[in-house]
Amino acid sequence: MRVGVIGSGIGGLAIACRMASKGHEVTVFEKNATPGGKIGEFTLKGYRFDTGPSLFTMPELVRELYAAAGESVPSTFTYTKLDVHCKYFYNSGEQLVAWSDQQKFAEECAQKFGEDPANIFEYFKRASLIYKITADIFLFNSLHKVKNFLKLSVLKSLLQVHKIRFYKTMNAENRNNFKSPLLVQLFNRYATYNGSDPYKAPATLNVIAHLENNIGTYLPDQGIYSIVQHIYELALKKGVRFEFNSLVTSIDIKNKKAVGLSVGDTKFAFDSIVSDSDINYVMANLMKHPLKKRFDRLEPSSSALVFYWGIKKEFPELDVHNILFSGDYKREFTNLFEEKIIDNDPTVYIFVSSKMIKSDAPKNCENWFVMVNAPTNSEENWEELIRTTRQNIVDKINKSLKTKIEDHIECEKIASPITIAQDTLSKGGALYGNSSNSIFSAFLRHPNFIKSTKNLYFVGGSVHPGGGMPLCLASAKIVDNEILAP
Ligand code: FAD
Repeated sequence: MRVGVIGSGIGGLAIACRMASKGHEVTVFEKNATPGGKIGEFTLKGYRFDTGPSLFTMPELVRELYAAAGESVPSTFTYTKLDVHCKYFYNSGEQLVAWSDQQKFAEECAQKFGEDPANIFEYFKRASLIYKITADIFLFNSLHKVKNFLKLSVLKSLLQVHKIRFYKTMNAENRNNFKSPLLVQLFNRYATYNGSDPYKAPATLNVIAHLENNIGTYLPDQGIYSIVQHIYELALKKGVRFEFNSLVTSIDIKNKKAVGLSVGDTKFAFDSIVSDSDINYVMANLMKHPLKKRFDRLEPSSSALVFYWGIKKEFPELDVHNILFSGDYKREFTNLFEEKIIDNDPTVYIFVSSKMIKSDAPKNCENWFVMVNAPTNSEENWEELIRTTRQNIVDKINKSLKTKIEDHIECEKIASPITIAQDTLSKGGALYGNSSNSIFSAFLRHPNFIKSTKNLYFVGGSVHPGGGMPLCLASAKIVDNEILAP
């Protein structure tokens, strides 16, 4: 079978590897010059930066991809489990280290915030229960095939669904669980891992705490982009052809079947097509789908404003992942999703891969990836927003770290919702497709296939099961195992 794949994000690369290893003839079309989509890298004045993801969870899904392709993971692909998930700084001056060792973390929460350690252990146990109940239904199977709901494991999970309190918001559930408001804020933050608002997203998203705390967080020893480089090499080894600098301009459909792709005036015939492009872009531009408006109405996930800074100094008080929390988390999300602005006191995330990967920065220097959540682009005045937000971030860092960071920034590059949208064609620069700001969001995500058009399938962060590297890998597994399987 001839398979055409649109886009070389992690979902597109994964499905290409899976299809090619089954003996199919696979061609990937990518508008950019390099693979990876939202996962990219660049170097500037001796510093290396990962452009997008910084947190790597569920590495077993990469291993599983190699196994599905009949290969073992190469010795060059190594990653390290982090002892500290994140270091948290609060406006009040308090600091908290989120140790991966749960006993140590619980003790830290008790000592710093007076939280009963039993609440921490109970929370992680519940997060694990949510994973057990939801993984089969929501993550690793198509949610849109009736036969999946008849599987014994899924039926068993369905009988327990009430236990996960999906009808409550994440914030309501967390407030119920923790005495300390600072810990509620910390655990609410997991909603942002798929670009959502903890005051609206269902408590089911507490499953993310399971991935981080019960399984672990990792950093590839050669940086996040090495995930893409390895999967790309796997695809080449399996015989996948890549057409870079090739923007697919339409999916060609005949008698309700996808029969090929067009790249400008050139047409390519295929037996099956898998799109890794943002579903909104596909519907509006590649299919001109009559239901396009239905997709337009769905709320996108948040986007980001990222400052990549080469810092001529080392900050021992920082870890690999660091959060400088805002003083008013609720207001921050109201501004993000309703007012469509970045709060004046935003939560600032600082990722410093050079803490572990020494070659990522010159000696005695650090590579800072400084990110705040941002609304997706809807014609805001970004020049002004970037200018004021940069100053707010600088002020916040200076206060928290008692420094004058402006004096240490040696070089800078900026990514905004506008550049993210241009680079990856995601809607308004959304990082994770649509938001999960409703209890029905899992059901509102586009399925991995489309009933009206045969031989057309979808992978990647904008479709089921959702955004983030692990779920993109899961989408490829679903299409491979359930939909394209003979
Ligand atoms: P994408 O990465 O969206 O790539 C799609 C590709 O398709 C692009 O290369 C695009 O050029 C190409 N394309 C689209 N349309 C066409 C067309 N018509 N013709 C040709 N090519 C086309 N995830 C995590 O797991 N952990 C994190 O810490 C994390 N942090 C993030 C931080 C940032 C700043 C960003 C931007 C993302 C982050 N994510 C994180 C999300 C993660 O990067 C994405 O969910 C994931 O990489 C999306 O992969 P994808 O398969 O959907 O494809």
